[in-house]
Amino acid sequence: MENNILTVNNLVKRYKELIALDHFHLEIKEGEILGLLGPNGSGKTTAINCILALLEFDKGEIEVFGKPMTPHSYKSKQNIGLIPQQIAVIDEMTVMQNIDYFCGLYVKSRAKRREYVEDAISFVGLNDFRKFTPKKLSGGLLRRLNIACGIVHKPKLIIMDEPTVAVDPQSRNNILEGIKKLNEQGATVIYTSHYMEEVEQICSRIVIMDKGKNLAMGTKEDLKMMIKTGETIRIEVLGLEPSHISRIENLEHVFQVTYQENQLTIKCSGGSHNVVRILQYLQEQSISFGRVFSELPTLNDVFLEITGTELRD
Ligand code: ADP
Ligand code: MG
Repeated sequence: MENNILTVNNLVKRYKELIALDHFHLEIKEGEILGLLGPNGSGKTTAINCILALLEFDKGEIEVFGKPMTPHSYKSKQNIGLIPQQIAVIDEMTVMQNIDYFCGLYVKSRAKRREYVEDAISFVGLNDFRKFTPKKLSGGLLRRLNIACGIVHKPKLIIMDEPTVAVDPQSRNNILEGIKKLNEQGATVIYTSHYMEEVEQICSRIVIMDKGKNLAMGTKEDLKMMIKTGETIRIEVLGLEPSHISRIENLEHVFQVTYQENQLTIKCSGGSHNVVRILQYLQEQSISFGRVFSELPTLNDVFLEITGTELRD
């Protein structure tokens, strides 16, 4: 497709009898941050490895920067930055040597390399650690080094495979803000994650996948419009009778009521004043209640309605 940085069509990848990608498709336009959201084992890393021609596949087409991707597409590869899920740095080299090494794979001019390495170090905030070897870094700092090595050559397309797994909240925020900044500076980003909050926070468009298949795609607003749940209300109530539950089920906009461990969970399909209506009912019935929570739909609700299972692990 014209204007696409990446097009994946009908991709099928088998590992013996397991179908890891089942006619998977993906399109990315310049300037997007595309979130690839799926639970563990859904095929995210497999898709990335196929896109980078690191893995052979059974069927389908992949185009990067308008050209078919092959193991020999060096020009395309120069313009891609991969931050792999498994940290890939060289233990014998310091932070600075690692970043310079990865830069040197693509950038030959020494002056340019020096400048790019400095940019990457300050970008990920590793200035105080430039002489450290990877073994001396905490998990979060090691992730940052992994990112610096992937972006140092200033690629047009950055592919990040779950860069925040096992990262402390501060480093995580730092990484998410960094991705937004790279995007503002012109990079197109593919961001894979099984954390829906992250994907909601930074991605301009989201593809939800499971079992190697596309389930849904769109902006987070589009995705939430696709589902029935408009609001989920949770209320702490002691000893509610089954008769009350069926009466609540019949209230306007209510389509699902569950009651477990003194928590009443009510799903409403849009509408306004749902909380007021339900609390009014409880008061009329002299049912006392504790805390009340109202949540707008999340991407977990989207995943739950499509697949019947939770995305949360
Ligand atoms: P994700 O990155 O979304 O967690 P993966 O792409 O790693 O998912 O895995 C997709 C499926 O393929 C999983 O069921 C996984 O067990 C399987 N798989 C991944 N790599 C291999 C491999 N090298 N050999 C056999 N099965 C694999
Ligand atoms: Mg993975």
